[in-house]
Amino acid sequence: MSVVITDECISCNACEAECPNNAIYGAGVSYIYGTEEKAALNEEHTYIVPDKCTECVGFHDEPQCIPSCPTEAIIADPERVETKEQLMAKKETLDKVGR
Ligand code: SF4
Ligand code: SF4
Repeated sequence: MSVVITDECISCNACEAECPNNAIYGAGVSYIYGTEEKAALNEEHTYIVPDKCTECVGFHDEPQCIPSCPTEAIIADPERVETKEQLMAKKETLDKVGR
C-alpha cells in the first residue's frame, strides 16, 4: 500500500526530502508524474501521491518518510493495499516515465 498523510500534519515538509520517488509535495503545490504536471491533491497540508509511493520498495526496507515526521502524521493507507510485487512494478514504471 502507499502511505498517506493525515490531518496531524503541520506542513513542516521534513518528509519531502526523504522520498526516493519524489512522491511528497507541499500543500497546494502541483505534482509531477513523468512529464505531466497535475493539480495538487491537498490544499491544506503536505500530501503524498499514491501513484508515486512504493512504500520505498526498490530503495529501502522501510518507508523513509514515516520516522521523519514529528507529529506521526504518516500512516499506511488501508484503502490502498498493494503487494510487494505491485509496489516493485510501480517503482519500475516510475523508472521508465520519470519521477
Ligand atoms: S514530516 Fe509530518 S508534519 Fe512534516 S510535512 Fe511531513 S507529514 Fe507533515
Ligand atoms: S513511503 Fe517512501 S516512497 Fe512512499 S512517500 Fe514515503 S518516502 Fe516516499
